[in-house]
Amino acid sequence: MADGLACPLDGAARTSGRDRALSRRMCGDCGLDYNLIGGRPRREGVCDSCGGRLEAREVDTPEALTARIDDHRESIAALLDRLRRKAPVFVVDASRDPDTVQEEIRTLLGLPS
Ligand SMILES: [Zn+2]
Repeated sequence: MADGLACPLDGAARTSGRDRALSRRMCGDCGLDYNLIGGRPRREGVCDSCGGRLEAREVDTPEALTARIDDHRESIAALLDRLRRKAPVFVVDASRDPDTVQEEIRTLLGLPS
């Protein structure tokens, strides 16, 4: 078995995470959180709980998300650099189907299929 770490980097998850963040809405009155993808209010733009108006948060604009993703990538790159000094690090494209990703990780780590 290889003495290393498998680090899945999920491009698909980043994209869907961005979509989810851009779809987030918050009630301006009670603070209840909604998501237009998977947690829609019964009436568009209106809080189910208190009837307040739903708004996008300032931190969920495309520009703010791009800045957060860039910060995250820099943090991950720094973390990978630190890890690479201690052990081999394998980067795996986790945007593929789970069985393919699992098989690649097992192969990289020298684990049985
Ligand atoms: Zn509300």
